[in-house]
Amino acid sequence: MRRLIWTLVAVITAGVLFFVYVVPPAPDRLDASAWSDLGARTVPGAYHVHSTRSDGHGDKAAIAAAAAAAGLKFVILTDHGDGTRPPDAPEYVGPVLMLDAVEISTDEGHLVAIDMPRAPYPLGGAGDAVIEDVTRLGGFAIAAHPDSQKPALRWTSNAAVDGIEWLNLDSQWRDESRSALALAGIGYFFRQGPALATLLDRPRTIARWDALTPKQRVVALAAVDAHGGVGRPAEDPGGSLFGTVGIPSYEASFRTFSNRAVLDRPLSGHAAEDAKAIYGAIRKGRVFTAIDALAAPALLDFWAEAGAARIEMGEGVSSDSDVTLLARALMPAGAEMGLMKNGRLMAKSYGDMRRVLTGAEGVYRLEIRVPEAPGTPPVPWLMSNPIYFGPDPRPAPPVSAAGTAATRTGAAIAPFPWRIEKDPASRAILRTSDRVATLEYTLAAGSRGSQFVALATDLSQASFRAIDLSLAGDRAGRVSVQIRSADGKRWGRSYYVDPAGTAFHVPLSELRPIAGTGPPPESEAVTSILLVVDLTNASPGHSGALRVMASALSN
Ligand SMILES: [Zn+2]
Ligand SMILES: [Zn+2]
Repeated sequence: MRRLIWTLVAVITAGVLFFVYVVPPAPDRLDASAWSDLGARTVPGAYHVHSTRSDGHGDKAAIAAAAAAAGLKFVILTDHGDGTRPPDAPEYVGPVLMLDAVEISTDEGHLVAIDMPRAPYPLGGAGDAVIEDVTRLGGFAIAAHPDSQKPALRWTSNAAVDGIEWLNLDSQWRDESRSALALAGIGYFFRQGPALATLLDRPRTIARWDALTPKQRVVALAAVDAHGGVGRPAEDPGGSLFGTVGIPSYEASFRTFSNRAVLDRPLSGHAAEDAKAIYGAIRKGRVFTAIDALAAPALLDFWAEAGAARIEMGEGVSSDSDVTLLARALMPAGAEMGLMKNGRLMAKSYGDMRRVLTGAEGVYRLEIRVPEAPGTPPVPWLMSNPIYFGPDPRPAPPVSAAGTAATRTGAAIAPFPWRIEKDPASRAILRTSDRVATLEYTLAAGSRGSQFVALATDLSQASFRAIDLSLAGDRAGRVSVQIRSADGKRWGRSYYVDPAGTAFHVPLSELRPIAGTGPPPESEAVTSILLVVDLTNASPGHSGALRVMASALSN
């Protein structure tokens, strides 16, 4: 009898310890009843989700059902692609607005383009070239998993992005110990979202984002990078979280954290209109992240008052008069609101925040920290986007190169004598008339190999600092302008070429290694100039025409 009692006590104790130490606590339920207006306008959603269209495990219906179960209102699908698949129109599947975006592989990491129509040619190549294309097409470019543990996935370009993933669930689990993963794995069978949240830490990307925002406006989003748990051929063969199909499920990922768009009015139920509102909020930075697995629902009102003007989260003001920063949030007990200026904590509050700034300048954002947050250092429970003070740091939109070359070139130089270079299977002919060289080409069809066609010209001991070109295509496309030295090394850079004609100035110093390494050589060592069309921005079987209207070397 006594033995039985002791066994029972031991079993109960073990059970209690198991629940205390292994099963993560349920999210703190916050009472939003006094916040009905803001609550109705704050729309939670998941960003960066893969479906069966690329390497995800579930189709649109399954993903929408998982999002609905997690209480989300929108999902931004980001299947891998080159932008040439027309995006699905925004669509409500049940209560969830499904938005279709694309994750593009560049030479410098993955870039997500949201709110973008179909691209006229495959997007790819250098990071800045892809950003330029996304911007020209009207999309919004977001650096994906910038600090992934996998170097091949890391975003390494210095080009200005519109947005950054300050938190990426896929990057987060990769730096955890086996024991932490095992504990999360056991906890997962009891509370999925909170178990995944135990793997979060304060990401290094926050510091990277803070370093960018004084120079340019960058919207931070949290990426679930959800695949529904299946092995991931495109990004990481066989590397799902627990090596098991279906774990972590979409629903588990969606229960971990959300992006909460703050709209002017509640969603209407009309898909196109609501898509515009959500994308509009993201573009403006009127969006914040909350770790819902810790406490939910998170609500935040963060604004500044300058005289009669109200400046919302994400916006900027260049007024040098006094401004008042205000914030109120629905937060759990023990939460601490931190006001960050240029990444540094400058004030704390345990309730509403109100702070008068004299001659304000700098980038201000909020972090709300909760005592039970996981990670070393702990992940913030809530992350706002900034309000910017001082002159608009946004770089001027890239000026179309058209027109600049003519003014720089001065005296026209006779066109280069061009000839064709290509792989054996592709076809090309060159026609020259009226000082215009026209290359008509067809890249070899079939599987992707090293298909290319190029116009080439040879130089000997030429002294120049830049190449000026005026090109036109039969349709929108990109051409890689390259130089080659006697030992076969090549350097280059790709340029957008419009059917209406594009003139551009190519400084030698800005060319990057293509075959070989190191900086470009002195111009005297350049033996050829090449205008290349290859599979970076064209598909096998692609036919087209490239016209060279003017070409010159300049100093
Ligand atoms: Zn990726
Ligand atoms: Zn992805």
